[in-house]
Amino acid sequence: MEATKTKKECLACAKGLHGRADKKFCNDYCRNAYNNNLKSANSTIVRNINNALLKNRRILETIVGNEEMQKISKDKLLHQGFQTKYITHTYTNKKGNVYFFCYEYGYLPLEHDVFLVVKRKQE
Ligand SMILES: [Zn+2]
Repeated sequence: MEATKTKKECLACAKGLHGRADKKFCNDYCRNAYNNNLKSANSTIVRNINNALLKNRRILETIVGNEEMQKISKDKLLHQGFQTKYITHTYTNKKGNVYFFCYEYGYLPLEHDVFLVVKRKQE
């Protein structure tokens, strides 16, 4: 049988494993090393996305300033480092227009690559 010949390897150091069939690591050291690696990789992803969202929010905040809304060309927005793929949620108004939000700031794509940037009032 092919399956019984399959040699299992430690997930952390890739050494051959002996003993119980459900064994995944040589020892606690390897288990901890593997889990710590996984954790830090995950937190890097989360941190990078959070940073991108906060940067997007800061850019929109700067554009709106003390106004309720402000128009800006898509080019200018992207030039400031805005990344349209990172949003927190969308909002569709009664007319069916979809706003893309980063926290309380959002934008509505208009014609001719112009974005209307808005600040959401208290919910
Ligand atoms: Zn190991």
